[in-house]
Amino acid sequence: MTRIGLDFDGVVVYDPVRIIRAPVKWFKKNVLKKNKLSFFVPKNSWQRWVWKTIFSSSIWPAKGIDLLRQTSRNKNVEMHLITGRFDFMDAHLENWLTKYKLNGSFKSVNINRQEQPHLFKERMINELKLDYFVEDNLDVVLYLAPRVKAKILWIYNILDANKNYGDRFPYLEKALVWISGQ
Ligand SMILES: [Mg+2]
Repeated sequence: MTRIGLDFDGVVVYDPVRIIRAPVKWFKKNVLKKNKLSFFVPKNSWQRWVWKTIFSSSIWPAKGIDLLRQTSRNKNVEMHLITGRFDFMDAHLENWLTKYKLNGSFKSVNINRQEQPHLFKERMINELKLDYFVEDNLDVVLYLAPRVKAKILWIYNILDANKNYGDRFPYLEKALVWISGQ
């Protein structure tokens, strides 16, 4: 049995919002002098509304969801969705999976409840005993890779394509093809 975990935003959906993360990260590092890995957690209803609005823009399926659907039908493969999004966005995620006929493709859908996304993902990768995990955020990739048994595959984008990480892929389909060849 091969167990594959996928991040949602930026892996299963193409995420245009990712592009704005680079300047935000630069600002935090160089202006606020914050180097510790931590993510903003929306607390009140206004912040949640802003987040929902931003994430509603992540609407396009990534190149590779057809292969994802096919791969999930293989009896020797288990697919798990692990998303760092917060639980108040459950409805949006479910609607999206149904719309693209992916609601039957995952053995489990794991949604973050208030944890820091990288810690949540680390815990889930271990609990689900994953062999592979596909993630688009390089900070999260670099955090997870030395800490878990699963092989961490990175989906890069045009802004961070120059960064160095061995197991890097431009989009989901390439990552799934690579896994199928292991
Ligand atoms: Mg992501």
